[in-house]
Amino acid sequence: MADFDLIVIGAGSGGVRAARIAAGHGAKVAIAEEHKVGGTCVIRGCVPKKLLVYGAHFAEDLEDAAMFGWDVPTKRFDWPVLRDNVLAEVSRLEAAYTETLTNHQVEIFHERAEMTGPTEVTLASGKKLSAGKILIATGARPLMPEVEGIEHAISSNEVFHLERMPKRIVIAGGGYIANEFAGIFHQFGAHVTLVNRSDTLLRGYDQQLVDRLLQISIRKGIDYKFNTTFERIERRDDGSLKLVMKGSDDIEADEVLFAVGRRPNVEALGCAAAGVEVGDKGEIKVDDDNRTSAASVFAVGDVTDRVQLTPVAIREGQAFADTFFGNIPCKVDYGCIPSAVFSHPPLAGVGMTEGQARNKLGSIKVYTSDFRAMKNVLAGRNERSLYKLVVDATSDEIVGIHMIGPDAPEILQAAAIAVKARLKKADFAATVALHPTMAEELVLMR
Ligand code: FAD
Repeated sequence: MADFDLIVIGAGSGGVRAARIAAGHGAKVAIAEEHKVGGTCVIRGCVPKKLLVYGAHFAEDLEDAAMFGWDVPTKRFDWPVLRDNVLAEVSRLEAAYTETLTNHQVEIFHERAEMTGPTEVTLASGKKLSAGKILIATGARPLMPEVEGIEHAISSNEVFHLERMPKRIVIAGGGYIANEFAGIFHQFGAHVTLVNRSDTLLRGYDQQLVDRLLQISIRKGIDYKFNTTFERIERRDDGSLKLVMKGSDDIEADEVLFAVGRRPNVEALGCAAAGVEVGDKGEIKVDDDNRTSAASVFAVGDVTDRVQLTPVAIREGQAFADTFFGNIPCKVDYGCIPSAVFSHPPLAGVGMTEGQARNKLGSIKVYTSDFRAMKNVLAGRNERSLYKLVVDATSDEIVGIHMIGPDAPEILQAAAIAVKARLKKADFAATVALHPTMAEELVLMR
């Protein structure tokens, strides 16, 4: 008899969902977590990041308030107040996740775990646990490149704990995390330089929207250095940093944040001992049922490097638990996954970009609305939004929606249902506008 039906390694988005659902189906479940229950999303990802995005937005709202009749006499940002409030909220959520697991009779081991066989896990304390099945849900971690002086740089793990707000920050990377923090730090008053080794930002997002974000961000004062890499990072006696670059002049900064990618957490996990095959990028290889090359070992979430997003990890965890403990076979549908960049302004997209649709379908129609949000007009904020509908010209189906502008991710979540349901442009046109909103542009494009 094994100690548990299921041992989950990693209490993040995927692991917590799988543990809770499997336990709900009657399984005896244990979960091991080396850091904090909640994982990346709750502890040092989506949640604290979004709270900083909200905090950052006040900079513009307070600026715009005057045109709406509000006299805001003093405006001073206190980073430690926001930081500590965000960290307190994170602790509250950590406790809530722990309680959920405990309420479902999931036994939590607050220590690192390693597989020492296909059905055996050894904890950092030396305790051995056996299980019918093991689920690897260990997520991913920031990739720190091999640059001289990299120890002076921070990653997204440390960014939420900064002692003080830097006056000058350099952010390395071109993906969503780099662009989100560029917006956050800029709004908090830091001078931001975004350094990217290529000239492509936000790969996978519609190019027109990315260009719009770049144009708005440059106008706001964010500096971009493309085709630039780091040669060396030096810490000066006064605590500041000198960044010796390839492709640009040296940069002086107070902080340098690397957001250049994330690597699956498979080190010292015992993959070889368990007979689990690992791919070239360090990802755990799985089939459509999240099964690894070892019959008793499964993996979900970022560690499998399929789509590194929280809702996807959660769905994979749910599908695994339902299939193997609830006798409800199901697979995750990876089509039409909406995603967003919580930049300033935010952008969001679902389905095919214009470029992808042109390559795949050939004959497409693109509808755009390029407008200034009413609130921005009154505030005198010269920032234009852009919405795009990408339509299959043959079937009239909407195959992609892409938006940049205030609240774009909130609006896109609802619009994504239409793309998933393969609604047609005619369905949008037949829907009466809800006036006055920004979202009404979606049904008014002709
Ligand atoms: P994780 O949530 O990373 O959980 C893995 C857990 O395993 C961790 O707690 C880790 O400590 C633990 N662990 C690892 N190895 C071991 C071991 N050997 N023993 C015990 N425990 C172990 N996604 C979105 O959808 N929207 C967003 O806005 C968004 N923003 C993000 C912002 C940032 C800054 C970052 C870094 C990520 C963001 N993500 C976002 C991505 C999201 O956080 C991940 O996709 C999601 O957390 C993946 O869940 P997971 O269960 O695979 O892994």
